[in-house]
Amino acid sequence: MKPDNRILTILGSTGSIGIQTLQVLESSIEKFSLGFITANSKIDILEHQAIKFNPVGVAISDEKFYSEFKNKTSFKGKILCGKEGVLEAASYNENDIVLSALVGFSGVQPTLAAINTSKTVALANKETLVSAGSIITSAAKEKNVAIIAVDSEHSAILQCLVGESIDTVEKIILTASGGPFWTTPEEEFESLSVEQALEHPNWSMGNKITIDSATMINKGFEVIEAHWLFGLPIKKIEVLIHPQSIVHSMVQFVDGSVKAQLGIPDMRIPISYALNYPKRLSYNFPRLELSEIGILTFEMPDYFRFPCLKLAYDAFEKGGTATAVLNAANEVAVNTFLENKISLPEIAKMIEKSLNKIKIIAQPTLDEIIETDKETRLYVESLINENIK
Ligand code: MG
Repeated sequence: MKPDNRILTILGSTGSIGIQTLQVLESSIEKFSLGFITANSKIDILEHQAIKFNPVGVAISDEKFYSEFKNKTSFKGKILCGKEGVLEAASYNENDIVLSALVGFSGVQPTLAAINTSKTVALANKETLVSAGSIITSAAKEKNVAIIAVDSEHSAILQCLVGESIDTVEKIILTASGGPFWTTPEEEFESLSVEQALEHPNWSMGNKITIDSATMINKGFEVIEAHWLFGLPIKKIEVLIHPQSIVHSMVQFVDGSVKAQLGIPDMRIPISYALNYPKRLSYNFPRLELSEIGILTFEMPDYFRFPCLKLAYDAFEKGGTATAVLNAANEVAVNTFLENKISLPEIAKMIEKSLNKIKIIAQPTLDEIIETDKETRLYVESLINENIK
């Protein structure tokens, strides 16, 4: 690691986390140089980023958009194509840190590629740990690679654990906003629209994670993510609804003491912590004014109105590839919901059917996880086609 200028590659620079990461970089530009930035299809944003930040290169995973970008860009750096291009960016030898902000299962192989080149990984792509947690964490252990959480809850836990021993943790309390429908009566869920589901009360995020927050499967994913990141059994990881999203999570210790990390809901704070970890740098993000917020409230989760949260615990209990099934079924169902073709409660139904149908492999290889992901997607697509007929 170079003392003052580290090379950062951003996998998924045109998504919400990628864009906010570049905002963080603007405020600490002397600390970082960009290796590669990657996109799937948002080539106009990528072009703008490439010209402004002058990375070593860019990678575009969709081949059609790669050709379009290559034909019209004035960017002079390397331009890599396809999934292989993203893998090459992830394993670029000069990287010091790779921020993985891809959406969904597409993050698994690039994240693994970064780990296999022994680079520090700042992980925003929780689906990678949900789908392939055992593979990712054992590779990281073998390569002695640190995986630093970008997710706000896990960043909070990491900050609460500074100076502590994991053996003295009694439990982790993951806070959840409850999403846009926390107070919505059960009978209204069937008719909730895509627009309503995309209106998150506190956080500004990409479409996939915003729907995941509306069904609360996002919190289930985060329980699994916390298990893999901090090595605690799932029974020591609790969920608590906190609609104000000010306490980002808490850790309770064996002496009864509880540490919490607080802040405004602004992803740039956990992103900057992950990029500079274990140091803190000065940033002028807006500050928390507790006297203006006044009241912080906490409630128990509701597994009845939010069955996806329960399904995530169930999948984890089943073990092996069950969480890969959970993730793949959810990805397809969420995309279908976003296309207005199914209702919000049908997402949970499709996940449940998939968990009952797809064969679970107890200790899968990466190839078996990839196969399970494919098989689940095909199954959910067949369910959707039946539904639509
Ligand atoms: Mg989160």
